[in-house]
Amino acid sequence: MFQKFLTGKTAVITGSNSGIGLGVAEELARAGADVVLNSFTDRDEDHALAEKLASEHGVTARYIKADMSKGNECRALIEQAGRCDILVNNAGIQHVAPIDEFPVEKWGAIIAINLNSAFHTTAAALPLMRQAGWGRVINIASAHGLTASPYKSAYVAAKHGVVGLTKVTALETAEEPITANAICPGYVLTPLVEAQIPDQMKTHKMDRDEVVRTVMLARQPSKDFATVQQMGGTAVFLCSAAADQITGTTISVDGGWTAL
Ligand code: NAD
Repeated sequence: MFQKFLTGKTAVITGSNSGIGLGVAEELARAGADVVLNSFTDRDEDHALAEKLASEHGVTARYIKADMSKGNECRALIEQAGRCDILVNNAGIQHVAPIDEFPVEKWGAIIAINLNSAFHTTAAALPLMRQAGWGRVINIASAHGLTASPYKSAYVAAKHGVVGLTKVTALETAEEPITANAICPGYVLTPLVEAQIPDQMKTHKMDRDEVVRTVMLARQPSKDFATVQQMGGTAVFLCSAAADQITGTTISVDGGWTAL
């Protein structure tokens, strides 16, 4: 649909050695962007992911280790990338517990990785976008950036924070050829989610279809998971000329979750 219109652009995707980040990286590479993959590990298989994207899509792809819980490493990731036309803030973790039992260190880690990292990478990337005369900031928030669930205090606070940061980034760049938006996924079928299905089937004594519809997707009216390819496709759309005037907003890809 979009062909290789991102040739010559470089995309940095945080937390992209699995799941949504990897899916977004793949769709951006398919559209011609050079990509920088990232996580906090430095394994052969991390670098192999970059080599695979490069050979399959004819782009330059690198893997750069940086821990998104540390502000200086977030900024160093962008510096090492050298160029950052498209910044996708995707790295994220989750922990579930009631507020009065929520481990303080988990609260800190979730706020650092899911929210603070986006501040640091955006701060480091905007000067590069201004230098290049074009830029896209795409924050992977969540339906939990717009709604809440019990026991997810840190995650919901961080994701609402990401949506707020997105709006401020958009206003500060409004007169420039730079946009900032948040994608708000509902439940996405990633390898981690896929791996939970057999356990859920056992716990609830249901077949796959029933456990997916009635337990896992209880809040997703479509009763179907979103996919990492759909997240990538939405990111590609936000990089297209059709989205030049879309800034400071959220795009829900949630099967109707936030319409409820
Ligand atoms: P995932 O666990 O597959 O991916 C998370 C990525 O972040 C991994 O690549 C991991 O290595 C990386 N990461 C974790 N800690 C890091 C750190 N300290 N430094 C650098 N990288 C780090 O999960 P996912 O489902 O693909 O989630 C990706 C994003 O999408 C997250 O922000 C998550 O909140 C959001 N999201 C996911 C869903 C879903 O249903 N899967 C729904 C809404 C939002």
